[in-house]
Parts: sequence; C-alpha cells; structure tokens
Amino acid sequence: NRQIVLNSRPVGAPTPADFRLIESAIPTPAAGEILLRTTYLSLDPYMRGRMSDAPSYAPPVALNDVMVGGTIARVAASNNPQFKVGDLVLSYSGWQDYAISNGEGVNILPADMAQPSMALGVLGMPGFTAYMGLLDIGQPKAGDTVVVAAASGAVGAIVGQIAKLKGCRVIGIAGGKDKCDYVTNELGFDLCIDRKDPDFAAQLAAACPTGIDVYFESVGGAVFDAVLPLLNVGARIPVCGLIAHYNDQQLPAGPDRLGLLMGTLLKKRIKMQGFIIFDDYGHRYGEFFSAMSQWLSEGKIKFKEDLVQGLENAPEAFMGLLEGKNFGKLIVRVEQ
Ligand code: NDP
Repeated sequence: NRQIVLNSRPVGAPTPADFRLIESAIPTPAAGEILLRTTYLSLDPYMRGRMSDAPSYAPPVALNDVMVGGTIARVAASNNPQFKVGDLVLSYSGWQDYAISNGEGVNILPADMAQPSMALGVLGMPGFTAYMGLLDIGQPKAGDTVVVAAASGAVGAIVGQIAKLKGCRVIGIAGGKDKCDYVTNELGFDLCIDRKDPDFAAQLAAACPTGIDVYFESVGGAVFDAVLPLLNVGARIPVCGLIAHYNDQQLPAGPDRLGLLMGTLLKKRIKMQGFIIFDDYGHRYGEFFSAMSQWLSEGKIKFKEDLVQGLENAPEAFMGLLEGKNFGKLIVRVEQ
C-alpha cells in the first residue's frame, strides 16, 4: 500500500521534500469496516491550507499523516453490511492506494456511472461550490456583467457557464492564451482576459464598459486589484478562494489599500461574502445535484479534466496547481 504523507510543513510554496511516499502492507478491515481501493484522487487548492498549522476552518494534516483528499474508490473487502465488494464509492480516502473506513461519509455511486471522476468535479465539490457561490451569494440577474477568476478551472468553468444560462454577460480571467481560448470557444464565455498580460487591468476595464455586477473571487492579488475600481453600485462578490495568497508568508509590502477597499464597499454598497461549501450549504447538495445532472444531460454544461497518471505524481501535480499548471479539474488516476 503506497501512501503519500506530509513530511514537513511548507514555508512558502510546497516543495517535493514536503511530501514522502511510504509503503506498507495492505490493511485488513476489522468488524464493521471496509477496505477501499482508490481509483481516482482529487487534487484541490484547499490542501495547501491543510499542510499548514495556521488556524483555519478545518484541522491541519499532522506531520507523517497521509495527505487528505476526496477519492473515487472500489470496495475491495467488506465487513459492513451496507457495502459489498465491487461497489463504486465517493470517499475521503486521501493520497493512498488503499484505505480502511467504517463507512461513515462514504457514498455509493451508481455502478453504471459512465465517468465516475465527475463526482470529484462537475457533479461534486467544485461544481457544488460554483453553483452555490454564484447563485446564492452572487445573485446574478439577466443582463448583469459577471467576472469569473480562474475561469478555466474546476470551479470557475462552471460558474461562468451557469451565469450564461442565467442570461448574464460573462467575462473570464485565466492564465495564458490556451486557457482563454478554451474559455471563450468551448465554454461559451463572452470574453476571457489573460491575467499574465502586462496590459491586463486595462483589458479588463475595456471588457466591462458598464462595470461589474458580480465578481466571483477565487484568486485575490493583482486580479482583485484590477476588478476593484470596476465594481458597480450594489455589486456582489462571493469570496470562494484566494489562491494567489496561499503560499504567502506575510502581508505584502505597502501601500496599505485597506481604506480603498473599505471605502469602495461602503460607497458602492457592495456585498462581499466568504463561504465554505459543505459547512454552509451541505444541506442543499441534492438541489445542486438535480440541477447539474439536468444541465449535463441537456449538453448545457461542459467540463474538462486534467488527468495525471500515478499516485507518485500527485505531489508534483499539486505543486503545479498552485502555479496554474493544471488545465481543468485536476485528478490523479491511482489505480492504473
Ligand atoms: P482550479 O482548477 O481553478 O485551479 C487553480 C487555478 O488557480 C490555476 O489553474 C490558476 O489558473 C489559478 N492560479 C493559481 N495560482 C495563481 C496565482 N498565483 N494567481 C492567480 N491565479 C492563480 O482550482 P479550483 O477550481 O479547484 O479552485 C478555485 C478556487 O476555489 C481556489 O481558490 C479554491 O481554494 C477555491 N475553492 C473554495 C471552496 C470553498 O468552499 N470556499 C471550495 C472549492 C474551491 P490560471 O492559470 O487560469 O490563472
């Protein structure tokens, strides 16, 4: 059983030395337990937070413990009457080939699911995050200008497509030409601006001649700086993530722009609200699942997976996620 454990807490960006691959015998389930064989492992930005022991909404991974993560797995042995060998499940097994579970929080997926990895992306946590953040906090109305950060990624791609379904004008922000082309040509956003272009702020302003009504924030940093002066009176900002800051070790050097931010929120009566998807909206998963399943069956929502082969490549892929090297929902195929 191969496991990737947290070897050390990163200082700034994670490095390969922060992870360690260990091997041990495949564990045996006790009474009431099941043995899960990981098929797919989801890699998500929140894992950077779990590597740190700074206070957060969830406890950190302990040093030498297996890295946490959502997984698709097969039941390989069962001493629990709720599961049978061969069941396909959505679990939280982490970065390892095999895991033992008492079945709590393990959900059986339809055996005939065409693409089970969808339960880690468009039909799972990232899709749910996009749906709730945009619709409940963003409150988009037809004709609104909606700006979406990290627009080609797991969450952003879905945010923009739902906003289009609601009749909005949608501007994506992504890193590089290929991602921007995908966002407009494949996902159907109206425009996409490359955040790496030196002229980025001016291009964003030109793309939003009537200002921004909803800004879906996943990034922070220079992207938010460009968005702030464009916000309209009554704008809504779902604060979903701040990936540009996850490796920060201290506050950036001045000037202090807190007054500018607070003044803008005040004068323009802007609603800016953070959320943690399952803590705040777990009870509405069913509503999301039905809506998304319907849109998918009608071909109204597209999605892209960035599939990495082999558990041993998870650390490198995760480090790349924090630098924008992924293109689509990042997933590791663990069982070859
Ligand atoms: P993505 O698939 O969007 O991948 C992350 C993307 O972030 C990269 O591809 C890159 O896109 C962008 N990025 C990385 N580093 C930087 C940087 N320094 N500056 C600007 N952009 C950067 O990830 P997800 O869709 O899974 O997650 C998106 C955001 O949503 C994250 O902030 C995550 O933490 C948050 N999230 C929050 C949840 C909640 O409950 N609040 C739940 C799920 C996700 P590009 O190259 O295009 O710039």
